Amino acid sequence: MTECLFCKIAAGDIPATVVYQDELVLAFRDINPEAPSHVLVIPKDHFANVEELSAEPELAGHLLVVAADVAKTESSQGHRIVFNTGEHGGQTVNHVHAHVLGGRPLQWPPG
Ligand code: AMP
Ligand code: ZN
Repeated sequence: MTECLFCKIAAGDIPATVVYQDELVLAFRDINPEAPSHVLVIPKDHFANVEELSAEPELAGHLLVVAADVAKTESSQGHRIVFNTGEHGGQTVNHVHAHVLGGRPLQWPPG
């Protein structure tokens, strides 16, 4: 997946502000933050979206554990974890990523 932006970030070929990584997942700051804390958590291997990732439940669970840990560390007063998926979900990068948002009161419902 050499044309995939987040595969390139996972490989270190494109710089990112990394807040956590291990052998399986990478957490880095969104380049266009929608909240005071906006971190993306990705698997280092390529999966197009959360539906594909669900075929690997251990990895999906690990990604959720990391996302929750980042959220708790960055946004102790509350946060939101979101997977945008497909055209109607507003997904623009086709490498699955959890948005971890916090640092201010978040509105609900989203648009
Ligand atoms: P989505 O629209 O849900 O697919 O989210 C894609 C996210 O990736 C957006 O919030 C973008 O701001 C973010 N993004 C795009 N390019 C980069 C980059 N080079 N580094 C960090 N975040 C990025
Ligand atoms: Zn990818």
